[in-house]
Amino acid sequence: HAKGSGRGQVRFYTADLNARARERLQVEAQLRQALEAGEFVLHYQPQVDMKSGRIVGVEALLRWQHPQRGLLGPLQFIDVAEDSGLIVGIGRWVLEEACAQLARWRDEGLPPVRVGVNLSALQFRQPDLVDNIADVLERYGLDAEWLDLEVTESLVMEDLPQTTALLEAMHALGVSLSIDDFGTGYSSLAYLKRLKAGTLKIDRSFVKDLPHDADDAAITRTVISMAASLNMRVVAEGVETRAQWALLAAEGCDTVQGYFCSKPVPAGDCARLLRSGSRVLDPVS
Ligand code: C2E
Ligand code: MG
Ligand code: MG
Ligand code: MG
Repeated sequence: HAKGSGRGQVRFYTADLNARARERLQVEAQLRQALEAGEFVLHYQPQVDMKSGRIVGVEALLRWQHPQRGLLGPLQFIDVAEDSGLIVGIGRWVLEEACAQLARWRDEGLPPVRVGVNLSALQFRQPDLVDNIADVLERYGLDAEWLDLEVTESLVMEDLPQTTALLEAMHALGVSLSIDDFGTGYSSLAYLKRLKAGTLKIDRSFVKDLPHDADDAAITRTVISMAASLNMRVVAEGVETRAQWALLAAEGCDTVQGYFCSKPVPAGDCARLLRSGSRVLDPVS
């Protein structure tokens, strides 16, 4: 039976494992219909070049417009989607929709931006993933370089030989590759260069306590200089304050993404940001 429709229902903590299991099943059943019912939407969060203050990319972030519970973020359903395998179909939809959006913006004459799409572990293991990506790009007539596929550091490091081969195949298509949540996994630095990823995304946990936390400052500085020497770009995630922006700028970070520039917004709002000259902020010199 339905267990009420309060917000945050998925996160509700109870010792009653039975109730929690039932709740997961309910979410799963609802997720199963959500794709067909057209309840998923993508929000887009700008990535801003620190030198020019211009938007150089946007990350597509999945949202579920739940009929009773309102707009849900991925943390409220992505685990269930992954465990049930539903993430494969959902991930396909995300890729399709992000590319469709990129094509719509192009057709509206907006300046081109890279669109980041997150790939889940299970999606990454689908044998037809690379063909699927190639097919979508072709159908929308998109230059591959504008699609930026994000895979987490921990996912990449899980099975290095296999992921290296996969990333190579994607690289051969011409798409951009980013290592997401960098610093939270256990990277083999020797492999980093061979991964064909152009970008490291510094995890928000290292940015959160900047500029005060000396350890985090040292870590971000190290990642930024390491990326530079490997010829990789760096995006700092979760930048919320001007002080964080200023510190990262001083350390030579290329790009930032965070509430300080903009929260993730619906496609229409994102188009307005892109149209307004792509400038979110005055650059800090
Ligand atoms: P992520 O890929 O690391 O995405 C960045 C997350 O940080 C987003 O959370 C974003 O809203 C949040 N964020 C950005 N700037 C700030 C900030 O300044 N402060 C704070 N507190 N948060 C900030 P979101 O949208 O809730 O997504 C969470 C995670 O869910 C993503 O982390 C990603 O791992 C996953 N996800 C999102 N969309 C998809 C998708 O389409 N497919 C898959 N497989 N996973 C997705
Ligand atoms: Mg991401
Ligand atoms: Mg991340
Ligand atoms: Mg994350």
